[in-house]
Amino acid sequence: ATGSNIRTYFDGRWHDGDVPVMRGADHGAWLGSTVFDGARYVHGRAPDLDLHCARVNASAKALMIAPTVTTEDMVQIVREGLSAYAPDAAVYIRPMYWGIHGDATAIVPLADETGFAICLEEIPMAPESASMTVTRTRFRRPVMEDAVVNAKAGCLYPNNARMLAEARSKGFANALVADAMGNVAETATSNIFMVRDGVVFTPVPNGTFLAGITRARHIANLRADGVEVVETVLSFDDFLAADEVFATGNMNKITPVTAFDETQYQVGPMARRARSLYWDWAASQG
Ligand code: PMP
Repeated sequence: ATGSNIRTYFDGRWHDGDVPVMRGADHGAWLGSTVFDGARYVHGRAPDLDLHCARVNASAKALMIAPTVTTEDMVQIVREGLSAYAPDAAVYIRPMYWGIHGDATAIVPLADETGFAICLEEIPMAPESASMTVTRTRFRRPVMEDAVVNAKAGCLYPNNARMLAEARSKGFANALVADAMGNVAETATSNIFMVRDGVVFTPVPNGTFLAGITRARHIANLRADGVEVVETVLSFDDFLAADEVFATGNMNKITPVTAFDETQYQVGPMARRARSLYWDWAASQG
């Protein structure tokens, strides 16, 4: 996408608009050695920005790409870039690294030549009334031996894209995705929670899906507010028997799920409680 609301950090400085950052010879463009993270600037705050910057560095290391910017410096660079936007703008923050050198079998990590860019783009938050439907997908999360599931790597996302395409072709917004064992892992774009008799349940991290930063924040907020949150193995049948289901992710923080295949859910009180706890917490972060 290109547009006047985009700013790009590349080659050590901020540029207005989108700038071409990856060359055809780069390992990232050729063989997909790219990692990224997504954070948000909303209501004048960037919740957990430090954790998102730390995670993109960890993702780079998982792909054997040497990170070139410290977490602290990255937070500062992002804040500098955000200062060009209005305080009430909603901005998506996407730092990324990619391999430059290498051949068809290996990335050669030369620390001074790792590709690094940050893209800022104004993207409005979904309205609080937004919700989504999900369906089962036959595509699954890979395990550690199949793919770099311990990184937020670009190469994992074509698998998620076909889950979404399949779901949308059936008239659903998103997919409920299984891990390699056949248990519920996440959606194609977010983590998943269900509520039964007032208790909140979410799949226990098993290394096959992204245990999100937003997920962890909601769990901490709900527990601090006295809600029982259980991380455990959950089946598709467990979700069919839930009172309420919601998804979490950096982009919109929390999205109620209104249907899983033929099963309908109420947009319930727990999602509303988690949302308000989230923004109370964010406001307390200064
Ligand atoms: N799972 C997948 C596949 C995702 O793309 C995302 C969004 N980054 C999440 C979960 C949620 O993670 P986070 O809360 O850290 O954004």
